[in-house]
Amino acid sequence: MITGLDETHRPELVSWVESARTDAIDFPIQNLPLGVFRTHGREARPGVAIGTQILDLGATVRQHLISGVLASLIERSCEEGTLNAVFAAGRTAVAALRSVVSDTLRIDTEAGARARLVQGAILIPMADAELLLPAHVGDYTDFYASIHHATNVGSMFRPDNPLLPNYKWVPIGYHGRASSLVASGTPVRRPRGQSKDDAANAPTFAPTRRFDYELEVGAFIGTGNARGDEIRIGEAERHLAGLCLVNDWSARDFQAWEYQPLGPFLAKNFATTVSPWVVSLEALAPFRAPAYTRGDDDPAPLPHLSDPLDAREGGFDITLEVVLASARMREQHVPPMRVSIGSFTSMYWTMAQLVTHHASNGCNLQPGDLLASGTVSGDRKESRGCLLERTWRGSEPLTLPTGETRSFLEDGDEVVMRGWCERQGFRRIGFGECRGIVLPAREPS
Ligand code: MN
Repeated sequence: MITGLDETHRPELVSWVESARTDAIDFPIQNLPLGVFRTHGREARPGVAIGTQILDLGATVRQHLISGVLASLIERSCEEGTLNAVFAAGRTAVAALRSVVSDTLRIDTEAGARARLVQGAILIPMADAELLLPAHVGDYTDFYASIHHATNVGSMFRPDNPLLPNYKWVPIGYHGRASSLVASGTPVRRPRGQSKDDAANAPTFAPTRRFDYELEVGAFIGTGNARGDEIRIGEAERHLAGLCLVNDWSARDFQAWEYQPLGPFLAKNFATTVSPWVVSLEALAPFRAPAYTRGDDDPAPLPHLSDPLDAREGGFDITLEVVLASARMREQHVPPMRVSIGSFTSMYWTMAQLVTHHASNGCNLQPGDLLASGTVSGDRKESRGCLLERTWRGSEPLTLPTGETRSFLEDGDEVVMRGWCERQGFRRIGFGECRGIVLPAREPS
């Protein structure tokens, strides 16, 4: 049995927006993710992705298609140019907005008929819009929730001791850097930093030679918690506004040199790319999955991280993919090559456990905070979610269709992440793209 289903999930729903009716698209009327966009230098404002279009929420309010409390939230979101106000209003508000928007975009409703008459005023082609970060992110935390990723990376950095003894007890994470989060499509410059070859006596300061992507899923916090308060595991998902894709760009040579004793720092905080559309937990209801099945020798999570419902359906069945195109591939019009494909069901810790753990010491999470899952890696080679694992620290380079090889990212490489959910009896939904191109390092000043 699937919980949380309502009228908005029915696969038969049809939108008057024609592009939303095509099969195998990311944004049918059953998805309705929230984002923030800008057109022609105008102010940033909130919208909903539908087919190849954006429903301009502010314009929808001005056309009297949305009213009351939701209209006030949208107006605040328009003033602020972020979704924080909507997220802060909580899951009930996000669900209510989803319901109204579904009604407004349906071909067979009175609201849909009225909306269709003013479509020129409320729809913007996505191709004409600049998609921005969905929220003002006050704090960004990155976890390490894939046991496959942790084991693979651990065995490269510490062959004798790959998985540290705390891993199965505590969801490992670190505080990332919110100021360098960038919207999908923003180019990312190869960072300079310290690294030290094993054979060398001293480190050098130079552009990274081991530039990597990390395929991750992000969760935006909706309602926060007061400092000092915990978030019980059974309540944790009430604090999530929705999910997105995250590319945690990483400089592996800096990381190897700096990560002990306090964890990642400059290896990761120069840029992190976030996909523009926030897919609500409501939209994801048909695609829930059991949490990771722990091995017989694994400990059960401590009581505050245990919940029967979370064990039964705390996972999300999201297929995740990374494709790469080198500059030469684009010149020769060779399509991007798939370099990773995996599933978010392979994660050892659920999103609810990450939220509960984060707040378990009384740390206050705030609306718009971003929690990322950590690299999503599965148990197969092709499901490894970063090049470090994919090429096993460069020892098994990938060969591109042009004959070029890749151990790590080269200048001009473009990395695109995608995610989607499919299930018999439901419409497929997707996350859109998380895209970034690698620029050469700046010359030293
Ligand atoms: Mn990461």
